Amino acid sequence: MAYDPNNIFARILRGELPARKIYEDEYALAFHDIHPLAPVHALVIPKGAYVSFDDFAATARAAEITGFFRAVAKTAELLGLGPTGYRILANHGPDSHQEVPHLHIHVFGGGPLGPMLTRLS
Ligand code: 5GP
Repeated sequence: MAYDPNNIFARILRGELPARKIYEDEYALAFHDIHPLAPVHALVIPKGAYVSFDDFAATARAAEITGFFRAVAKTAELLGLGPTGYRILANHGPDSHQEVPHLHIHVFGGGPLGPMLTRLS
C-alpha cells in the first residue's frame, strides 16, 4: 500500500491539524487520542512516512526504529504509567481495523484495562 501524505496523522505532523501533544523528538510525536478508550490513551507516531508496523519494520533505518520505541517508552513515563502498568498496541491492515494509514502505537493506561482482547466467536 502506497503512503498517503494527506492522512490525518501526516497532517498533524505538518501542524495542519491540532493535537494534544505529550512528547516530541526527532523520531516521533506523541499525542492524546481524540476518542480515548481508556482513562489514558495516547498515540505515538514516527516522523517518517510509514503506512504501518509492517512497512516500518521492513524499511525504517535502525536509528529510526530505536528512536521510535524509546519515544513510546518516554511517552508512558511522561504520563506516569510505569508504576501501575500500561498496554501498547499497533493495528496493521484490514483484519486489525487499522483506520489511519500512518504507523501508530496506542498506549493505554490509567486504570485496570481488562482482558487483552474480547474473545472472538
Ligand atoms: P487505528 O484504528 O488506526 O489503530 O487507530 C486510529 C486512532 O486514531 C483511533 O483511536 C482514533 O480515535 C484516533 N484518531 C483518529 N483521528 C484522530 C485525530 O484527528 N486526532 C487524534 N488525536 N486522534 C485521532
